[in-house]
Amino acid sequence: MTRRPYDVVVVGARPAGAATALILARAGLDVLVVDRSRYGADTLSTHALLRGGVLQLARLGLLDKIAAGTPPVRGCVFQYGEERIQVPIKPHAGVEALYAPRRTVLDPILVDAARDAGAEIRFGVTITELRLNRAGRVTGVVGRDSTGAAFTAGAGITVGADGVGSRIARLTGATVERAAAGAAAFIYGYWDGMRVDDYELFYRSGTAAGYFPTNRGQVCVFAATSRRRFRSESRTGKARVYDRLLGEAAPGGAHRAAGARPPRQLHVFAARPGFIRRAHGHGWALVGDAGYFKDPITSHGITDALRDAELLARAIVTASSGEATEEAALATYQATRDRLSERLFDVTDQIASFAWNLDQIPTLLLQLSNAMNDEVSWLHQLHALGGVPTS
Ligand SMILES: Cc1cc2nc3c(=O)[nH]c(=O)nc-3n(C[C@H](O)[C@H](O)[C@H](O)COP(=O)(O)OP(=O)(O)OC[C@H]3O[C@@H](n4cnc5c(N)ncnc54)[C@H](O)[C@@H]3O)c2cc1C
Repeated sequence: MTRRPYDVVVVGARPAGAATALILARAGLDVLVVDRSRYGADTLSTHALLRGGVLQLARLGLLDKIAAGTPPVRGCVFQYGEERIQVPIKPHAGVEALYAPRRTVLDPILVDAARDAGAEIRFGVTITELRLNRAGRVTGVVGRDSTGAAFTAGAGITVGADGVGSRIARLTGATVERAAAGAAAFIYGYWDGMRVDDYELFYRSGTAAGYFPTNRGQVCVFAATSRRRFRSESRTGKARVYDRLLGEAAPGGAHRAAGARPPRQLHVFAARPGFIRRAHGHGWALVGDAGYFKDPITSHGITDALRDAELLARAIVTASSGEATEEAALATYQATRDRLSERLFDVTDQIASFAWNLDQIPTLLLQLSNAMNDEVSWLHQLHALGGVPTS
């Protein structure tokens, strides 16, 4: 017997997809989430959450679960060359601290919450095609499960939350509306025995580095540089490049202190310029990196994914209740996403270019901070409106 179509099928079960599904399921929609990976698997990403991301997790009622195993971060340290500035995280409106949960912690908490809210979750399912009706509207997904068996599911709306290499974006032909020029390469790993309580960020001409305290007493330590420099040096091996970049950006940092033990494994992201894509069409929408990818240098992708999950879920709920047409509701989603993202996207692009010097980087970081503050104020206003049952 063929199952009736789901209200929504979401492709991708990480911050964007799981959070969208969670809010939709809490609003009473019939939701399926599929992901080709496995439950709890790690992914290539550092994981510092900024205020907007923590706010969204609090709003979803999940912050206590994150905080149970992840150290609170109550300050950010910015070091530009020899100058060191510490900025405390001011407790405000439910955000007392920031957190950098490992993706093996954060992503399953979101997935569990979506499942508890009634969403059906299937891991090991790879989507390869879309179902279309005669009018060209997307009506569901086609793929295969982990045994290789054919998989198909009908949907009122199909959501691509399938990350930066989004197949759903490719299949729908979602156009790139803005493209970034800068692109940073990253090498990171998990250190033991380091004494770090704050997010610490280091900037030197041509390099940057950062410490994010995370679960199990470890510290995620990244080093970054321009794509061009990474390409020219990568043949010397990732361990050498990591040591060199860290040595330049954070010469006196806590990773050099006695007792600090370097990682056995290093992870490399070899740079990819950002983009903002069209976010919707007939029967489909994109959320998270699938529709809007910024260079990771400003550590804002998960925060944005959690923000846009709520924006998209609101639009889908509005359309399904008949309060607005699907086209109008999804157009509002895209317009809001773009308005909130533009400044973050631009300043991130400038920082990722590494075309700044030590006199210029504080101004860029101030612009970033102002854009983030505006985003958080806007989220507070959105939350005050009510609308979707988030927790
Ligand atoms: C090096 C690096 C460092 C970063 N550091 C930070 C940071 O410190 N803070 C921060 O906020 N952000 C950071 N980011 C960005 C962050 O990782 C992303 O913004 C975030 O993961 C986006 O979430 P998402 O749900 O949109 O996509 P993803 O997390 O990419 O999830 C997409 C999911 O879709 C699934 N999928 C893909 N294709 C298919 C298919 N065809 N069928 C089924 N499933 C599919 C994948 O298996 C995956 O699980 C970093 C990124 C990188 C690369």
